[in-house]
Amino acid sequence: NYALVDNEGEADVILLNTCSVRDSATRKVFAEIHSLRHRLRNKNALIGILGCMATDYREPLVQDKALDIDFIAGPDSYRRLPELITESIETHEKSFDITLSEFENYSGITPQREKGINAWVAVMRGCNNFCTFCVVPYTRGRERSRPPKDILSEIERVAQEGFPQVTLLGQNVNSYRFENADFSSLVEQITQVKGIKRIRFMSPHPKDFPERLLNVIAQSPKVCKHIHLPLQAGNDRILSLMNRQYTQEEYLSLVEAIRKKIPSIVLTTDVIVGFPTETAEEFEDTFRVIRDVQFDSAFIFKYSERKNTVASRKYPDDVTEEAKTERIVRLNNLQKDISLCKNQAHLEEMHEILIEEESTQKSIHDVQGRTDGNKLVIIPQNGYRLGDLVKVKITDATPHVLKGTAIPANKEPSIQAY
Ligand code: SF4
Repeated sequence: NYALVDNEGEADVILLNTCSVRDSATRKVFAEIHSLRHRLRNKNALIGILGCMATDYREPLVQDKALDIDFIAGPDSYRRLPELITESIETHEKSFDITLSEFENYSGITPQREKGINAWVAVMRGCNNFCTFCVVPYTRGRERSRPPKDILSEIERVAQEGFPQVTLLGQNVNSYRFENADFSSLVEQITQVKGIKRIRFMSPHPKDFPERLLNVIAQSPKVCKHIHLPLQAGNDRILSLMNRQYTQEEYLSLVEAIRKKIPSIVLTTDVIVGFPTETAEEFEDTFRVIRDVQFDSAFIFKYSERKNTVASRKYPDDVTEEAKTERIVRLNNLQKDISLCKNQAHLEEMHEILIEEESTQKSIHDVQGRTDGNKLVIIPQNGYRLGDLVKVKITDATPHVLKGTAIPANKEPSIQAY
């Protein structure tokens, strides 16, 4: 008997879904809890904390009486939400369930989605990799994959609801396994779903990228030619301390194999600078890998210590803030130049974009869409609607966005996929 409302002022129950992968995210949630309680006119409204912070910050969340929340549900306890809400109403105490499960994959739960272009579909939960800087294995538990039958029926349903694109989600999608099915066979099956025009996924782990998946990406026009391949560091000692389970050479060989098989692939990455004990020389290895690989874009972060991780127990956060800042600035500048060059190389090319929204970049007279390679392109509105696939010519480029004009249907030359 619960229903969604449009704004928090009308709500009897407010759920904050949280992430604890970075320190800044958790600080924002604590600030939001205080601010919410202060600004809510309905003083009886219940506030519940969901997601990773529920497990990672259970002590302050459960024990701090000053923290005015009513219930807490960890990532594997959402089926118990109705009970937790009732319990908290009846007892006026904080109710909580933060048990992690080896089996919960939310089979049989149908997400309600607002209308849109992209449907996020979780194909697995948890992670077994234990990168030493990462809290995910502790906050989300061990890897569990959903049955392919479940995933396919969810995707058939979203296709019927009008979503042209799905993004398959997992902490390490390469580890997807259910009986005889692996991630490559799952993606192959999804390419057969009628109505789905584009399939994206994130993120694969470089240590076990299957060649079969490359073949599926290369052969199916529906599977987007974009791979997000987290590098994290380019120095072997740091990679080993991070427990990433690949070396610089293995990573570079994988990039070479990907580009050989799919020359038009768009590659993006994540990098951490200032991991404990990283020297200036070791950082230069990361700099060189970024320069040599020429990623289309990169998310670059300063190392932030997460409690309970192996890194926080074994390695002191000893790289100075100045050194971290200097490294992140250098890498960001380098990546900005590379991204600009990569984008400028597409000037005058023809591409197909899927219109995703009215442009937030420029004006209401524009719409924006993404290429197969996930590049953002802004074009004049001209009657195009969300979900349209439009052929465009690229006319301008910045490091972050392309601009283009639509090509009338009778003048369409061949499209370069990228
Ligand atoms: Fe964290 Fe590593 Fe798992 Fe990614 S692969 S979620 S970084 S432990």
